[in-house]
Amino acid sequence: MSGNSLTVSPARIVDREFKQPLLCGPGPANYWPAMNDALTKWVISPMDDEYFWVLQDIRAGLQYAFQTSSPLVLAVSGAGHSGMETVISNLLGRGEKLLIASRGIWDERACSMATRYGITPIVHSTAMTSTFSLSELEEQLKVHRPAALFITHGDSSTGSVQHLPGLGDLCHQYGALLIVDTVVSLVAVPFEMDRWGADAVYTSLQKGLSGPAGITPVAFSARAEEKIKNRKHEPPFYFDMKLLAQQWNCYGDTRSYHHTLSPPLLWALRCSLQELCREGLEQSWARHTAATARFHQRLQTMPVTFLIPKPEDRLVTVTTVVIPKEYDQLAVLKHIRDKYNIVIFRGLGPTVGVALRIGLMGVNATLQVADQVADALEDALLTLKKGKL
Ligand code: PMP
Repeated sequence: MSGNSLTVSPARIVDREFKQPLLCGPGPANYWPAMNDALTKWVISPMDDEYFWVLQDIRAGLQYAFQTSSPLVLAVSGAGHSGMETVISNLLGRGEKLLIASRGIWDERACSMATRYGITPIVHSTAMTSTFSLSELEEQLKVHRPAALFITHGDSSTGSVQHLPGLGDLCHQYGALLIVDTVVSLVAVPFEMDRWGADAVYTSLQKGLSGPAGITPVAFSARAEEKIKNRKHEPPFYFDMKLLAQQWNCYGDTRSYHHTLSPPLLWALRCSLQELCREGLEQSWARHTAATARFHQRLQTMPVTFLIPKPEDRLVTVTTVVIPKEYDQLAVLKHIRDKYNIVIFRGLGPTVGVALRIGLMGVNATLQVADQVADALEDALLTLKKGKL
């Protein structure tokens, strides 16, 4: 030890009071009750067979969740953005064209990532309150002949859901791959990767799967796999699917080290997939639909409007609610948090200052939670009206 005293003293890290709120924003959602046990299970390492069993369980669960029989399915270490980074950087290289169907903030993020990799983004936008028709996307594919199309299935910044069946075939007809963000839609809204011809897909654990953020499922089709095998460019080392596929033993013949996977997050993802497989996808879709239908029915009796005018474009997991201008949006959020310990969110990207974002997803997609949030919102609108209007 040197005789010099340290120049930085120990930090004062003290515990504070915090009561876990009911999380009814666009994510994260609360955890499944089994999650606390999952997060404190054994520390597993590549020296244990159990580690590889867990990876195998996760891959099988993900094939079910995405509805794909592709072998190139695994989870990358990082939040949802790492999935976006992985699909874009593995499939496209410098100078290739990525057509971006843009209606919210996630498509903007995809555009900014593509630009950093030297990929040429071509942005086709629609109003934040609507979605794309297949014919307009076909026109764009025909004109630009991109290497891939990026589209967001459920957009948590606007509260809309994009109709996808048929889009995969269209992309393939024009030589493009289809990349889909299913971060806030998977397991809540029907999605069938193989049947719909999606080529690269990612989701997150903290939304419909009701687990912690930090590990992100991705899946690639046979077409995408072929592109990865023959690509001329190198993606970032950390997100390289060729290396990750070896670590995750995607082809049944490798058990290699790439980076240290987080044991609690592996157990957490496995736990969410176990919950999903017990319930069944169709039942999960139906539960989300029923909870949100109840919430929407309750909204009809309040002085609010839906940001998304067409009911068929409304996302099941996130509802964007416009409240009259006379209300202070932040006061509404604060009232709901202070009195009910429920968290709902303000707008994001194009919806900042325009709409509130209220989410029912994962373990919170129940009639009971729908009523709890509706009661809280109703009370906030009544209470704040007395004082303000
Ligand atoms: N895509 C969508 C649709 C999202 O809702 C989010 C997160 N809200 C992301 C991507 C990014 O995910 P993360 O914050 O986990 O990086």
